Amino acid sequence: MTTSYLCPACGTNRSRFNIIEQVIHAVKKDPQTGVILEYLSPDDPLQYKYQGPLRRVQCGICGMIEAEDLFIHHAERQKQN
Ligand SMILES: [Zn+2]
Repeated sequence: MTTSYLCPACGTNRSRFNIIEQVIHAVKKDPQTGVILEYLSPDDPLQYKYQGPLRRVQCGICGMIEAEDLFIHHAERQKQN
């Protein structure tokens, strides 16, 4: 987590962020009641595996929430220019 961020929306914030860790729970729910019947293994062959980002970032200035990669790439791109 030592990589620099730059907000792709406001383009100025490099220091104030909310880092959001995403925790995936694979579940089986009762269709009628909505009660969680079972927590599935993340490798359950019958369940589509989550492939989205594990970490999202919110800009502490403008509030935009995006995948961490976007903030990292924007900071790198800005460094090259
Ligand atoms: Zn921003």
